Amino acid sequence: MARVVVLGGAESGVGAAVLAKVKGFDVFLSDKGQIKDSYVETLKKWDIPFEQGQHTEELILSADEVVKSPGIPGTVPMVQKIRDKGIRVVSEIEFASRYDSAKKICITGSNGKTTTTSLIYYLLQNAGLNVGLGGNIGKSYAYQVATEHFDYYVLEISSFQLDDIYDFRPDIAIITNITPDHLDRYDHKMENYVAAKFNITRNLTEQDCFIFDSDDDITVGHLSKIVLRCKMLPFSQEKEVAEGAFLKGDKIVLRYDKEPETDLFLEQLALGGKHNIYNSMAAALAAKATGIENSVIRESLATFQPIEHRLEPVLSIKDVLYINDSKATNVDSAWYALECQKRPVVWIVGGTDKGNDYSVLNELVKEKVKAIVCLGVDNSKIHAAFEGMVPVITDALSAEEAVRKSSELAQGGDVVLLSPCCASFDLFKNYEDRGEQFKAAVRKL
Ligand code: ADP
Repeated sequence: MARVVVLGGAESGVGAAVLAKVKGFDVFLSDKGQIKDSYVETLKKWDIPFEQGQHTEELILSADEVVKSPGIPGTVPMVQKIRDKGIRVVSEIEFASRYDSAKKICITGSNGKTTTTSLIYYLLQNAGLNVGLGGNIGKSYAYQVATEHFDYYVLEISSFQLDDIYDFRPDIAIITNITPDHLDRYDHKMENYVAAKFNITRNLTEQDCFIFDSDDDITVGHLSKIVLRCKMLPFSQEKEVAEGAFLKGDKIVLRYDKEPETDLFLEQLALGGKHNIYNSMAAALAAKATGIENSVIRESLATFQPIEHRLEPVLSIKDVLYINDSKATNVDSAWYALECQKRPVVWIVGGTDKGNDYSVLNELVKEKVKAIVCLGVDNSKIHAAFEGMVPVITDALSAEEAVRKSSELAQGGDVVLLSPCCASFDLFKNYEDRGEQFKAAVRKL
């Protein structure tokens, strides 16, 4: 019996182990850290042997194939040893896709993945299709392949999940956009990060589609260096495209195959902001390529509910609107959050800096921001970036303090926007925790 060893005991690793078990492999899971209780329970339930707190070499190097969780960098010594022994290392999505004949719509990119993925899932559900949602969202893809039967999957895929794929082939691949993020995992080389994202296209055939942002110079630059045989569906807010999606006055125009053009009026889109026009374009093109009717596309884009922690309106208090955009963990996403504000902004920003260059925000900050509340342990870079540009810059060490100070600085008609540009790990468990604490503090005002 072939032996599959899974490295990493969280959502994707445990899902891969369950699938390997269902497919009759001799499975073993190893995690150098502690495995969460709920995952330990799943492993026991499926009778899968595992270890935690260590990697036992004899048990791992006896594998025929290793499934590596995306959280484990390819450079850790254990992975090096596995590769040195000539054992193939694959990602969870590579492994799972061998056992899945569903049509797959796969979304990667620097920003907008979750929003675009959720929009497409909603569209396919509204069209009455038997569709699963997975990847970085919700239940792991492998676990669903083991336990469900779907005709379609909509999968959000991070660049880490694309690191070890060989034959994985989406039917529709989407790159929302590419801006610098997570460069620490890519030797601080942008070209490595771009190449990792483009791994999503490596097996596309003539039958498949590639949907991409043709206003994004990095994406377009990389496309000029490679050859893709699939149908190309660009989306743009700057220029007309022969096939794909573009802006014309107050509407999005979709051009797909030989079909008549489809119009989508911007004022009817449920999600506001320039970035969400891009996300809506990408989702609408994926729906067209899946054969979904225009009426369903219009209705779905008009009724989709904003997702938590992404420009999520929380409450309006004394005519000050509080917005939770805690998921804005890089400069580009905060740029779009500021860009779509129509009212003066008290901006809560800060956290663990990922080597940010804040200067791209200067124009928007000058135009829109009346006060900054820094929410982080070390706020020196934010002070240095915006001192002299914004009249008030103050500091806070908790969500509650940040909300209180913001409420004192804001007047009726203003917006208090948490859009931190940074990771959350200095003061919070994760971005969800930061967003929850922000919302709780707002509700207490
Ligand atoms: P991801 O899953 O790629 O992190 P999300 O959809 O969760 O993306 O959005 C993350 C953050 O980026 C949010 O703050 C959101 O407002 C912003 N954002 C969403 N879509 C885009 C886009 N197309 N371009 C830039 N920023 C975006």
